[in-house]
Amino acid sequence: MKTYPVPNFGSAVEVVVFGVVQGVGFRPFIYRVARDLDYKGWVKNIGFGVEIHLEKDRPSDFQDFLLALQNDAPPLSQIKEITVKPASHLGRKSFEILKTVQEESFVFISPDISVCQNCSDEMKAPTDRRYLYPFINCTDCGPRYTIVKSLPYDRKQTTMQSFIMCPECKKEYSDPLDRRYHAQPIACPTCGPQVKLFRSGTRRELKGGIKKASSLLEQGKILAVKGLGGFHLMCDAKNTAAIKKLRQIKNRRTKPLALMARDMKVLQKYAHITPAERSMILSPRRPIILLKKKKNIRHIAPHLDEMGIMLPYTPLHILLLDKIDLIVATSSNQKDAPIMKDENEGIDELCDYILTHDRPIHMRADDSVMKLVGDKPLFLRRARGYVPYPQPVPKTLESDHHILALGAELKDTVSVYKNGYVITSQFLGDLDEYQNYRYFEETIQHLTKVFEVKPKVVVSDLHPDFHTTRYAQQMSIPHLQVEHHFAHILAVLLEQEVPPDQKILGVSFDGYGYGTDGTAWGGEFLLTDYSSFTRFAHFAEIPLPGGDLAAKQPWRMALSYMRYAFGENLPNLRAMKKIDPKKVNGVLEMIKHNINTPRTSSCGRLFDAVSYIAGISPVQIEFEAEAPMRLEAAAAEGIRGRYGFEIVEGASHEGLEISFKKMIKSIVKDTENSVPVSHISAKFHKTLAYAIAHVAQKAQQQFGIKTVALTGGVFLNRRLVQEATTILEKKGYKVLRPIQYSPNDESISVGQIAYALASFKIKFDPADKRKYNIKKNGNQKSD
Ligand SMILES: [Zn+2]
Ligand SMILES: [Zn+2]
Repeated sequence: MKTYPVPNFGSAVEVVVFGVVQGVGFRPFIYRVARDLDYKGWVKNIGFGVEIHLEKDRPSDFQDFLLALQNDAPPLSQIKEITVKPASHLGRKSFEILKTVQEESFVFISPDISVCQNCSDEMKAPTDRRYLYPFINCTDCGPRYTIVKSLPYDRKQTTMQSFIMCPECKKEYSDPLDRRYHAQPIACPTCGPQVKLFRSGTRRELKGGIKKASSLLEQGKILAVKGLGGFHLMCDAKNTAAIKKLRQIKNRRTKPLALMARDMKVLQKYAHITPAERSMILSPRRPIILLKKKKNIRHIAPHLDEMGIMLPYTPLHILLLDKIDLIVATSSNQKDAPIMKDENEGIDELCDYILTHDRPIHMRADDSVMKLVGDKPLFLRRARGYVPYPQPVPKTLESDHHILALGAELKDTVSVYKNGYVITSQFLGDLDEYQNYRYFEETIQHLTKVFEVKPKVVVSDLHPDFHTTRYAQQMSIPHLQVEHHFAHILAVLLEQEVPPDQKILGVSFDGYGYGTDGTAWGGEFLLTDYSSFTRFAHFAEIPLPGGDLAAKQPWRMALSYMRYAFGENLPNLRAMKKIDPKKVNGVLEMIKHNINTPRTSSCGRLFDAVSYIAGISPVQIEFEAEAPMRLEAAAAEGIRGRYGFEIVEGASHEGLEISFKKMIKSIVKDTENSVPVSHISAKFHKTLAYAIAHVAQKAQQQFGIKTVALTGGVFLNRRLVQEATTILEKKGYKVLRPIQYSPNDESISVGQIAYALASFKIKFDPADKRKYNIKKNGNQKSD
């Protein structure tokens, strides 16, 4: 809590509050506080926040007001900054809310927020006029981002425009002392949206609405249920037949399914939960949290020790879970396509019944998914409840130019920059899927429209064939390109507000990124500031037999790593007996003769190899990171010891090379000696953590670097994050990792914005109309 000094303010002040304070009940809150504390004056919306004029008929320090402002602010608001300065005493007789004047503005929009306790209580009160009404909301809760079509945030500009308020709603909406004052989605059974229940296919309507839907779930049916950002597919989580059917429909054999539990009591029957996880899962953002299993539920998250659970977050969910206490709630989509937002996108094929309603969804948004590490979020997916919160950039990087950053390709997001803030879209998925590419285009249009962004520069990945790169090329504005792993690290620098004159060691581990030399990078240690990097160290480059296929069939990487470690005389690995010997020989030939076998320093592929050698990986994976996730889940606690590795100087044209030959040999030996996979996995994670610490030590010796950032998709691995952080901190390093963004490719667009901002400061003027295209940003001098 910031306390404000008590200067001699006299009897009037002007207070400006910056942040997410519009459309979240902030002005009525100020109105109530000012009246309670007997201040006169006014409050009004301005470009970035609200401006408050306060006065009293005698001198005051205004501390009571400033404290209330910070302590009691509405739950949806997010205050970034408060400024206070003396003002003239105008002799006002009352406190008023002034009308918003439309101006050249940049208004923050609140994310969608779960139903609040007040609304939930009202909904359950038989005497309330909104008794059992599934669209109850107020200024503290309800849909926002997903219903806004443009700004200013006003009912006319949302998907609620076609619902005409009844006199009672209108009265609440217009009363500054009512908790529904200017709640744009305000609704009631008389004037608001209604649910409808259909049989899929025939679209025959069924009576009974939510109650009936709930009993259909109990009967083992699969329902598509319209939520905030799209449809869920739901079924009874304890009905094995229903889950199997759902898996068949979604064509998913083993990929984990998310659960929704009625309340904490039900949740705790099935999962362990720490106090931090508990407060996160109950927060108004209601993310899915990966929790340690207490009781296994068949077919929910096979081979893993965690499962994803959330609590109901809309009034409709609460009503639906009144009878049934635990359901599967997974996004409704067909094979990697975006979540469906209305019932005419082919939903019939995915379910038995459809529970929908007539409040349209303007912008899709999946559920956010995270785990907690060290009590802080580690996002697997950032979407509903978090988007579009703005991220401020360090003051010295601020620019007047607007920027659009397009991200990478898989797990894409886009970001826009304007007036000191970055706004990042929800998770968009793999752009190689046509429908996701459309979603990407929709989202760019939406973000640039609602935030009035006119980009002067577009930023993309360095990869020449990514859809995002091609999109940028046809925009006919200056185009910057940023190396993938560099962008990962830049996102952390920006989020953690690392000062522009500081260099850090960025550890950027993932499956694949296009390096400045055109090869496949993925186990990278980059000395980084905002404008450039040096490839200080990297994993040894290993053949990737079959290219993309090697990422889907972990045994290929296992063979490749074994050949790297043992040469031609390969040991007889137990796990390799599952593979047709002809195929094994084929792959060995490919490696030997360098046919369709690029080389990679990928850390993701090292995980694949170890997972397979240790005998826990499937032959063919169903979803990304399946082999590494199984390996992590297997790791035992309290295992001492680790494997060997070497840091080779001068082995590579670029930086140090880290060789895991010794480790692979030892792991193969361990499997021969029937050492349990739980031990192998624990030692492997420890080895990687030590490798990171060793490289950090070298960077410190040579360059005095004391800060290390851990990022890239591999750092979704809780075990590795914890091991590496512990070792580094013990050695005195400051360890950074993404908190507000995912370490995976969702954060690339954020890093791209940081690079563009740094470029403006150093060498690049976007007002210069020349098409500007930086081909490489590694190892360059800033001239
Ligand atoms: Zn509410
Ligand atoms: Zn009404």
